[in-house]
Amino acid sequence: MRRSKFLIFGAPRFFQAELKEMLETLRSGWWGTGPKVLQFENQFSEYSHAKYCVAVNSATAAMHLGLNALGIGPGDEVITTPLTFVSTANVIIHTGARPVFADVDKLTGNIDPKEIIKKITKKTKAIIPVHLHGRPCPMDEITKIAKKYKLFVLEDAAHATEAWYHGKKIGSISDLTAFSFYVTKNVATGEGGMLTTNNKNSADLARVRRLHGISADAWKRYSAEGYKPYEAVYPGFKYNMMDLQASLGIHQLKRAEANLKIRNKYWQIYTKALTQLDGVIPPAPDEPNIVHARHLYAINLELEKLTIDRNQFIDALYKENIGAGVHFSALHLHQYYRKTFGFKRGNFPNAEWVGERTVSLPFYPHMSQKDLFDVISAVKKIINYYRK
Ligand SMILES: *Cc1c(COP(=O)(O)O)cnc(C)c1O
Repeated sequence: MRRSKFLIFGAPRFFQAELKEMLETLRSGWWGTGPKVLQFENQFSEYSHAKYCVAVNSATAAMHLGLNALGIGPGDEVITTPLTFVSTANVIIHTGARPVFADVDKLTGNIDPKEIIKKITKKTKAIIPVHLHGRPCPMDEITKIAKKYKLFVLEDAAHATEAWYHGKKIGSISDLTAFSFYVTKNVATGEGGMLTTNNKNSADLARVRRLHGISADAWKRYSAEGYKPYEAVYPGFKYNMMDLQASLGIHQLKRAEANLKIRNKYWQIYTKALTQLDGVIPPAPDEPNIVHARHLYAINLELEKLTIDRNQFIDALYKENIGAGVHFSALHLHQYYRKTFGFKRGNFPNAEWVGERTVSLPFYPHMSQKDLFDVISAVKKIINYYRK
């Protein structure tokens, strides 16, 4: 039976603690970058096991700032996956460098280390692996390649706040890691992001450049400590996080682990129900010794067995009053990338394969189990109806 009420694909949630913190911040008069941002950075440093955390207003900003701090610019090449959000590749272009795609593993959707090696040239400076849906990339292999060819690694961990890889917390492994606190992400501040690193020099550069490139403690220039003269030391960016955003993040982050338990439970309910369904491939099993951040639950449709395509499947889900998403359609086939770099269908067959088949189902801790079973019933109904 069709659900009577629309089930939204994803929405953030807050509690009294966020309201209280936000109100305190509002009343303090210090809304911009200040003590709450510092508190959130320290909390995130403890959580991510990264020595330095630089809070910014998005993961996109964190990645741009990170590449900038690494000195990447015109004439350089940066290797990343075509199965990602547009901003992962856009930021490479913002630095003046060239994005170079390497195909993914068909099972996991994560960048394939063997494909990375094929794309390395004299101009290659960095690799941006993306932990798709929350599943850590094969970082041992990627780190080894980076060492051998003297490349930087900047992880796009927008999906992977809670993830671990081989005993190490994501955020503590590579030169730099970028996290997202966008509204739909597991830890949400509306807009927000974090750049983490164990390298003091990178952290110092990022800290200054996230706020106009003016001398370090310039955000304090109107505090009670007295007027602080400031000086431009670099043509920086306006990427700083506000205390208002940090007020949300402080409490959202505290709940991440409890939420992960619910996400794990829901993950298993979906997988158990969909494994037997002919026409649908559930997410690949977890590799040993990793923690998957369970950000998105994405199935692949076996289009060869169906009379509809992926977008028609999503339309049918909406007709059942259920929202859905696509993470992601292969980026090299988007208009700008086709036109600018001459990419064509067939360039990255695995990314295209996943990009045409992937569907993200509603998946968040404040869904009820009844909501989950509604999604499962709707998926089964549509697949059974449109199976060849
Ligand atoms: C959400 C997302 C981003 C961008 O995050 P913002 O905080 O919105 O800039 C980058 N990469 C991936 C894989 C994402 O899903």
